[in-house]
Amino acid sequence: MTVESTGNEPNARASRRIRCIIIGAGVSGILMAYKLKTYLKDNVDFRILEKNSDLGGTWFENRYPGKPRLSRIGIFVIERLISLGCACDVPSHVYQYSFAPNSEWSRFYANSPEIQQYLKDVCRHHDLTKYITYNAEVTDARWSEEDGIWAVKVGRDALGVFQCEILVNAGGILNNYKMPSIPVDLRDKRVAIIGAGASAVQVLPAIQSICKSVDVYIRTPSWICPPIGLPPGTLDNPSYTEDDMRRFREDPAHSLFVRKGMEAGFNSMFSAFRKGTPEQENMRQKYDAYMRELIKSTDLQAQLIPSFEVGCRRINPSAPYLVALQKPNVNPRFGNIVQIQRKGIVTAGSNDAEGKAELCPVDVIIAATGFDTSFRPRFPIVGRNGTNLQNLWESRPVSYMGTGVAGFPNYLTFLGPNTPISNGGLMGVLEATSDYFIRLITKFCRENVKAFDVTQEAQGDFSMHTQNYMKDMVWSGACRSWFKSEVDGHITALWPGSALHYIQTLAEDRFCDYSWTYRRNRFAYWQDGFSWIEQPDADALGLAFAEARREMPTLPRQGADWSFWLTEAQALPMRKAEAKDAPVLIVGAGVFGLSLAYELTAVRGYTNVTVLDRYTPPVPDGSSNDLSRVVRAEYTDKLYSQLAIEAITEWRTPAWRDHYHESGYVMMIPNADSEWVTKYRALRQHQTVRQPMNIFTPDQSESEIKRMYPSVTADLTGIMTLQNDHAGWAHAQGAIRALANRCTLAGVSFVTGPRGTVRSLETSGKQVTGVRTATGSIIQAKTVVLATGAWTNRLVPDMRQNILAVSQPLAYIQLSPEEAERLRTMPVMVNTATGLYCFPPDPVSHQLKVARHGFGYSNQVELEDGRVISSPKLVGNNAAVQDFLPADADRDLRAGALAFWPEFGNRPWAKTRMCWYNDTPKSDFMVDYHPDTKGLFFATGGSGHGFKFLPIIGRHIADVFEDKAGPLLREKWAVRRPTNGDPEPEMDGDGTRLGPRLRQLSRAEQAKL
Ligand SMILES: Cc1cc2nc3c(=O)[nH]c(=O)nc-3n(C[C@H](O)[C@H](O)[C@H](O)COP(=O)(O)OP(=O)(O)OC[C@H]3O[C@@H](n4cnc5c(N)ncnc54)[C@H](O)[C@@H]3O)c2cc1C
Repeated sequence: MTVESTGNEPNARASRRIRCIIIGAGVSGILMAYKLKTYLKDNVDFRILEKNSDLGGTWFENRYPGKPRLSRIGIFVIERLISLGCACDVPSHVYQYSFAPNSEWSRFYANSPEIQQYLKDVCRHHDLTKYITYNAEVTDARWSEEDGIWAVKVGRDALGVFQCEILVNAGGILNNYKMPSIPVDLRDKRVAIIGAGASAVQVLPAIQSICKSVDVYIRTPSWICPPIGLPPGTLDNPSYTEDDMRRFREDPAHSLFVRKGMEAGFNSMFSAFRKGTPEQENMRQKYDAYMRELIKSTDLQAQLIPSFEVGCRRINPSAPYLVALQKPNVNPRFGNIVQIQRKGIVTAGSNDAEGKAELCPVDVIIAATGFDTSFRPRFPIVGRNGTNLQNLWESRPVSYMGTGVAGFPNYLTFLGPNTPISNGGLMGVLEATSDYFIRLITKFCRENVKAFDVTQEAQGDFSMHTQNYMKDMVWSGACRSWFKSEVDGHITALWPGSALHYIQTLAEDRFCDYSWTYRRNRFAYWQDGFSWIEQPDADALGLAFAEARREMPTLPRQGADWSFWLTEAQALPMRKAEAKDAPVLIVGAGVFGLSLAYELTAVRGYTNVTVLDRYTPPVPDGSSNDLSRVVRAEYTDKLYSQLAIEAITEWRTPAWRDHYHESGYVMMIPNADSEWVTKYRALRQHQTVRQPMNIFTPDQSESEIKRMYPSVTADLTGIMTLQNDHAGWAHAQGAIRALANRCTLAGVSFVTGPRGTVRSLETSGKQVTGVRTATGSIIQAKTVVLATGAWTNRLVPDMRQNILAVSQPLAYIQLSPEEAERLRTMPVMVNTATGLYCFPPDPVSHQLKVARHGFGYSNQVELEDGRVISSPKLVGNNAAVQDFLPADADRDLRAGALAFWPEFGNRPWAKTRMCWYNDTPKSDFMVDYHPDTKGLFFATGGSGHGFKFLPIIGRHIADVFEDKAGPLLREKWAVRRPTNGDPEPEMDGDGTRLGPRLRQLSRAEQAKL
């Protein structure tokens, strides 16, 4: 189609920003995210949608088999043994990204938890975790021809639909279980393993010694080979010593030499995969001799040494399997399984001389039957003309080079049909695929493409060439394997050539094999006809990409060796050692700063943690310092509710109970149909650990509450109430003082006063390097935590999307000791209609406190850099003024005091205070790394409800800090990046905040602050 060019359209050369969804956070998805971040961060907004609750794909699922799915026949894969047995059969030092070599692989073949941890480390180090949305199972993807957009649906109930121009399927092929998974104890059990592929080969040696007996059902045996890359005679899976690891870490040339040797070893095997070649014959003789040496009985040799070509099925490097097969408690069984009954497995009987059917009793069956490798997507992917890929690939999957499918525009796949999954090394293949996608997407952005679609001719030619080629390859030999279709023998899984051939083919950018549709005239992006050589700014992406091509590792150059994309690269930083000695600066000595400092130092072994603050804790004007803070678990939000229950348990322990008063909690709910009540009831129904709770109807409240708490004098007639014994209040000042002491004893350093007052952050490029204090001195650190509460916006611009500093009014009434005694047994009370709440008298000062959980007041402060924000002052004590309240706040607090304590409510305020905290759009905390500045971590509360978590919050903050937190927490506490055109955030919270909306204080009022 030709579209008219207007020649000099405004911004025609400014390449457009597009959206990309990646399905799956496994090895391929993480790689794609890394490449997009490296090359196209400014042009592509991308997100990984991951169905699981953690990253790793295959390496996550094979470790934690996930939700049990019921099976028809009750066969199980066992969790414990999977973690023992499941490993990668490619040596660890080549099963890693070229840009992130790991010096700490514990053994030659790493197991799945270690590989998953590696992937997590890569994400942490390269700051990729933030792009992943967990528990987001894609259930449908549909192409819109009109808009040139994919609509990607997540969840069964249309939880969300993501739109994107480019859809990358990195969903993997080896994580679609064929069988369910639940934990079972195998000790002293009669176990059957069905299968003789890679899983069975790994599982048998891991369980043989603990089982009473193991029957191994072998339909097609596998070729077992010596480990590739190890000198003959070495143990099959040797461990790396500390010295080995140090050498990998400190000597990049050595690390490269080892990696290259292994990679080249894999790539040199390819010529042996041609039928009838001397290389195939050599390999066969070598493996035959190896297996004969390991299998003692000649009968067993005859049954276990395959008659088909080496490589026809996947080769497995596992001598321990053959050794285990010959143990006295193991019976290899070669007959076909004809039935599975309650008591055991019925075979056609080839183990029996007469060939009679035989019942083999068994307690547990392990289905090591592998994965569903049919390539059919597990959810509808609907391309042009309503074609569903599930139907198209029902009988035979045909793709274009495994990277795309004709009729499915802007759709890219990793490891699709006919990619080199067993043609040589795999990681180079994946890296080449991702580099190729980057080049394709760059063209897409830069030239304003609407759609690219593989032509049917190109796809047809590829398929025909592939199947012809396969006739000469061992993969079409006389074996059963998942490489080929059981129906017609077509090879669906492998590439027609070597891994290196695939890499080279992709490097050639065969863009002529696609049809291209543009949003404008295809040459409109030339605009005024200048090259970037003349005007570098005119075509930023063109220039950047010309540079990028020079660095792209998988583009072969003359003289390239067989592992050319591997070059010297810095090892991933060691996780434990480095992090724990390095200086960590925590700015802010409130709930968030102190609890993190304590957890890191006293519990997790950090040795260099310093807390800076304007004042020594308890900081007089910090939001963590007051007479009383409510401790309750009534949340409509599951996470906070759970955390609060966890915290209350801790408040009751000797470590905290001196500062906790379990007075009980009464919520007055004049509007019983409020959304909050509905949500809260729904949450309680699903809670496994629940707070004891009474809900009283408007008829009951007055009598019931006063029966329980005789000192309550408020009028409760006609309103619903919610009452809970397991709640109360904490003495904030006392608890903070105690925690600060514990921090000192644990070894945390404190710097306070002007030397602890941070004026600005020090950075180098995108890395934080320390802080500059009010004395002008610089304190250096690679990690800076901002636990700066309401002052946070001062130090970091662009947080407007996340937090807004607001002040809240508080007032105190003095009682005599006798009066206080009369009210001693009253609970904490909250009125949900007004947002007002009150506390029982403090047992030492005898003061009552009334406050409002509302939206608060903002002010306007001009900073040195010209920004105008709402903030408490940095220098000086914001709590020093003790007799000012805005008039409306004074009126409301007074009304509240009268309602809660008719007898004392009219008494003059003993003191008032405006106390500052950060409001956030959904009352969530902000605990996360800064999206752009490395080493900068936020730990700050939101919307005035953080104090109650004091005993436990440090643990959770530290989990996020160390990238160990669960997805729910990470997602909730994530820093949201402001984007142009974002509306002003609405600070609505969970509905417990009521009272007047946010108000900006007048100039006169601000002057009084
Ligand atoms: C009026 C009010 C009522 C509340 N009621 C409750 C309640 O009933 N229950 C409950 O659970 N929670 C309640 N909260 C919330 C709870 O108090 C906060 O969530 C919690 O205290 C926040 O702790 P923080 O560490 O984030 O902030 P803060 O305690 O404010 O600590 C921040 C610290 O950072 C320091 N700082 C800031 N900038 C700098 C800098 N540049 N250099 C050096 N130091 C700096 C400050 O001096 C301060 O000490 C209430 C809060 C308020 C204000």
